[in-house]
This record gives sequence, C-alpha cells and structure tokens, in this order.
Amino acid sequence: MAKINLLDKSVFELIAAGEVIERPASVIKELVENSIDAGAEHITIEIKNGGSTFMRITDDGCGMAFDEIPTAFLRHATSKVKSADDLDRIFTLGFRGEALASVAAVSRVELLTKEHDAEMGGSFRISGGEVEEHERTGCPDGTTIIIRDLFYNVPARQKFLKKDVTEGNQIQALVDKLALAHPEIAFRFIRDNKCVRDTSGGGDYYSAIYSVFGKQFALSLIPVDFSLNSVSVTGYVSSPLFTRGNRALQYFYVNGRYVRSVICTTALEEGFRNSIMVGKFPACVLNITMPPELCDVNVSPSKTEVRFAFEKNVFDVINFGVKNAILNADNRRDVRLEKKEIPTERADMRSGDKILLEKAIKAVNSAPVGVDEKPPLPTEPPEPVRVFVPEDKPVITVAETAPFRIKHEENPFVQQRFSARSVTVEYDEDEQEDTAAAPAPTPESQNAFRYIDSSSFSEREEAPANVTAEPEKPRLKVIGEIFYTYIVCTCGDELILIDKHAAHERIRFEKRRTELMTSSQLLAESVRVTLDAEQYAAVAEHTDLFADIGMDVVLTDGGICEITAAPSAFTGEGGANSPEEMLIRAADALAGGNMNISDELYGDFLHTRACKSAIKAHDINSMAELTALANEVWNDERIRFCPHGRPIMLKLSEYELEKYFSRIQ
Ligand code: ADP
Ligand code: MG
Repeated sequence: MAKINLLDKSVFELIAAGEVIERPASVIKELVENSIDAGAEHITIEIKNGGSTFMRITDDGCGMAFDEIPTAFLRHATSKVKSADDLDRIFTLGFRGEALASVAAVSRVELLTKEHDAEMGGSFRISGGEVEEHERTGCPDGTTIIIRDLFYNVPARQKFLKKDVTEGNQIQALVDKLALAHPEIAFRFIRDNKCVRDTSGGGDYYSAIYSVFGKQFALSLIPVDFSLNSVSVTGYVSSPLFTRGNRALQYFYVNGRYVRSVICTTALEEGFRNSIMVGKFPACVLNITMPPELCDVNVSPSKTEVRFAFEKNVFDVINFGVKNAILNADNRRDVRLEKKEIPTERADMRSGDKILLEKAIKAVNSAPVGVDEKPPLPTEPPEPVRVFVPEDKPVITVAETAPFRIKHEENPFVQQRFSARSVTVEYDEDEQEDTAAAPAPTPESQNAFRYIDSSSFSEREEAPANVTAEPEKPRLKVIGEIFYTYIVCTCGDELILIDKHAAHERIRFEKRRTELMTSSQLLAESVRVTLDAEQYAAVAEHTDLFADIGMDVVLTDGGICEITAAPSAFTGEGGANSPEEMLIRAADALAGGNMNISDELYGDFLHTRACKSAIKAHDINSMAELTALANEVWNDERIRFCPHGRPIMLKLSEYELEKYFSRIQ
C-alpha cells in the first residue's frame, strides 16, 4: 500500500468543488439561489457560449460588507447557519457555505457588491482560489458576479462539457424552475446577447407560469390549494383532458426549493388515477410548504433531493389536493362554438345535431378556444368548494379560509400568496361529520333495470362531503338518447350529453371498490410471505395502510410477514390474485413511494370488472334505465371521467346554441 498523504489545499478544494459544480448550470443555480437568499427583487442572468466562457448574475439584494467579501469565498463560510440547531430549520436556499469557494476554485471570478446603506462597495477578483484584487469602489446596490472560463484549471471536467447549446438549454430550464418558484422576483435571462426570458415579478404565480410556458399550457391549468395538518400544497395541475406523453412538465417545490421526489410524483399521478388515460402524464407546478423541521433538504450537495419526516402526510396532501382540484374544476367541459367556425353550407345545417356533436367532441379533445389573451383562472367568480373525502381518513373540520398565506412568516422564500380559495382540512378523531346523503332517485319500477341494481341508489356513504351549503341543484330532465350511446338531457339552460357506457362503467367501478374494501375475511390458514429487506421495511413502516384495505399483516422476524385476513375477493371465486402476491405488490409499491396501495392492488381488477358488467354503447335501454343512470351521474360529483380517463359528460349552454344559430351576436 502506498504512503498515506494529507492532500494539499489546492487539490482538496478541486475535489470538493467537483461535488457542487458539475456544469455551468450548477454555477447559475448556486449564484441565483444566493441572489434569492439576499432578498433580490430583480435578477439578471447573462451567459455566453452556454456559460462556459462567461456568466454574469446581477441582483439588487442586500449586498455584502466590504470586509466580509474574502470570507464569503472560504469553504464552509455562510451567513445563513450558525449552529447545529439551525440545520433543523433551514429557511434559505443555501446553507452549506460551499458555493462561492467551489466556483472560485474552478474559474476566474469578479465580484462587485455594495450594501444598501454603505457609501462605497467593493470589487474583488479571485482565480483558481487565489485572491487577485480586493478594493473599495463605487457601484450600484446589490451584487454582480462574473464567472469566466469555467474549469480552465480542470481540463478533465472541461472535456465533459456538452455542446454550448445543450449547456445553455440546461441553464434555461433551470432559470425557468427558479422563476416559477419565485413569482415575486423579476427574472431576466440573456443568452448570447438575446433576452430569452423576462418575468414580471410582483408575486402572481399564474402570470409566472404564463410567461414561462405560454398561453396554451396556462389555459389548461386548474388551481390546487389544500392543507392537511401542517402541510400545504398550492399551485396548478393540468386538466385531465390536457395530458403529456412524459413527466417533463412536472415541477415540485418544497418551501420554495425545486425538488425531485418520487413521493410527490407518485402522489400527483395517484391524484389523477382514473381521471387520465393510462400511459399519459399530468403536468403541474406545485409548491408544497411545511415547517422546515419536517423536511431534510441536506441530502445531496445540489439540494434537489429531499426527505420528509411524514411521507404519508405529504403524499396525502398532494393526492387529495389534486383530486379536489379535478373535482372542483368544471369537468363537464364547456363547449365553445366560435362564430367564425359556424358552417354556412345548407347541407351542413341539415345535419345539425351531427355537427354539433362532432364539434362538441372536438372541443373536448382540444384546449378551449375563444378565450382572450389574459388567463381567466384566478379571476373567475368563486364557486362552492367541494372536498374529496379520503376513504381512510374522515375529514372532520373543513373551513374555507382567507386567501392562502404560509404560516411561517419568518421565511422570506415561502411568502407567496395565492388568490385561489383555500381549504384547510384537519383530522380530528372525536368529531365525525356525516356526509350529506344524496337525494334518493325515485325510479317507478326498479325491476325494469337490467343493469342498474337498486343498491346503486341507497349506497351513498362515499359521497363527497359538501363543504359549503350548496345551492340546490337544478333538476335534470332526460330527453332521450342518440346513437344508442349518448343520453341527452337538459338542466336549466344547459344541454347535457352523457356517454352511457363510460358513466355506467364509473358507477360500477366505485361500487365494486367500496364492496372490496369492506369484504375482509379471516383466512382459514394464515399465509407466510418472505420479503426482501426493502419490501419488509416498507411494510413495517406502513402496516396501518394494510388494515385500511382489509388485509391483516403480522410482521415476524427474518423478513417474514404473515397474512391473517384478506378481502374475500382474493380468496373467493374469480379472486384477483393470491394474498401473497398482493402483499408483495403492495410492498413494492410502498417501497417505490406509492402510498395508494388500494388502487395499486385493486385498480386493474376493478377496471376489468366494471368494464365487463357495464352498459355498452349500442345496447338498447329503457327510458327509465337511462333516466336513473343520468340522475346518478348528475348527483355524484365523482362520476365525471370513466375509470380509463375518458370524459363522461359534455354540456352546451343555451347561450352558446343561440350564438351558434346567430340568434344573438
Ligand atoms: P451559502 O449560500 O451556503 O451561505 P455561498 O458560498 O453560496 O454559501 O455564499 C457564502 C455567503 O456569501 C452567503 O452566506 C452570503 O452571506 C454571501 N453571499 C453570496 N452571494 C451573495 C449575494 N448575491 N448577495 C449577498 N450576499 C451573498
Ligand atoms: Mg449559496
């Protein structure tokens, strides 16, 4: 073995810098985060050649004291943390005191900085860790930092830099992420002398999204605003009708910090389960806020990973927040018929209802048209708030609160306000509130129903609780059926089309789900299952979740679990799979961050069952049957998408029809 050497400072500085600074985008991330921590209202980022030769960040933040400039460039020098206790409550983006030292070790740095009440500022130059200049000078308030020739002294790293355009794109994506997290700051991004991003600041979350992603994306969004215990989620998700082929547009922030988190992604997608096509992904910009002691951001040097003290709570907040958002958005898509699109040919007019239907379907499949430049979302008149009730956690106190404000006022980075309505939900074991019973339909002869059994009308325990006293719903009038597929109804001044197969499928799905959850049976002989360490740990951590899905699991030593009870669907005729297989699947899901094991286990089974037993398009149904079905759909807010994510209902207002027929201008 060779002799053990204590490394030279210049060598270990380079090694340490390598952890923090991987590429130009990592430099920008660290420096812009410093500007945000400094309370800047305007931040300008300028790069040339993908950042490899030139990067300049200018801010109007608090600046640095002249004497402290050299200290800021020392490793582990920070103004943000003083003692070990502070590490449990990190309010700033930076806290490791490594960025400036790392950047200075691998490039040529120039800094100009001035505190607001100082008469003179300071100029400072440092290259490869060696100080070259430290002088007093006149300069504007705030800080400007220039980085030239990144990795000029680490040729090995330089070799791994990608093409300028790729590095530049990475920086662009990063600036967008930062701008979305901080709508209160005006960001400007200048790439090779061209301004490519300019956000207005001012704190409006929606307009930040609008500037970054453009109109089309912004229009597809629905607001999310939900709290559970001390964790909140606010922001926007895409409508279930506007989906993506990948996860590129999923942005999560925890206390203002962009993070990548399997828990968050899975919870989002669980929130969309049964509302979105399989294989498609929702987009989102979601800001999760929580007391800083409940999350650990010191997991990786780049601080994009995060650990949560109460994973299930974070999962639930996002999952239910998203479900509520979808529920409250008017999923019966308005069909907007633009005047200029009206066909004038006589032949077209004759086949009026066909055109109408085609247009309606087209409108559902595309983003709404006929909307003005300014996004309408935040200014829409308030509607009653409805809350999705998690099956396993009764929602007890639900109160509509004033505009959302993060409680941790001392944290300057999470003081974003949202004009959207806020719903606060807290668990309280003692005070269970009954969910409002939906009006029982009164079909004259239930015997006439081949498909819809009478129990459909009595089981209402799962109906969503109405938070505010909702104005009485106008009655639905069923007119008939077209193409043996769509039930035609009117309600007030709206024409409503309901896809009978999709609707019935969803109803069956919900019913079967309730039955399954409540059909646990003691097994004659308990089943022993051997799990690997990861699976076992996941089950051990979440044993309570198994009780919720009707499985009794006992942990024994040596990675073995015993199943003593399981839903009868496992054991009875046509059961989905063996309890053993189910436990392993659930353990894998939990280990992968998915806490919604009920859908993970039963989802496919329920889909198949629901689809097979449901009314089909082109079936011949009695009017009574169609009326009962339409009423059931109308009265149950959950039934807006079929289990595969296709929409169930479509509405056209009298106003739109009048416009279409040129009765009004
Ligand atoms: P950290 O951000 O983890 O504290 P850095 O190395 O990034 O460590 O910065 C060191 C210190 O330099 C910061 O704690 C802060 O006091 C100061 N600083 C860095 N950038 C700025 C800036 N743009 N404006 C004001 N102060 C800054
Ligand atoms: Mg920093």
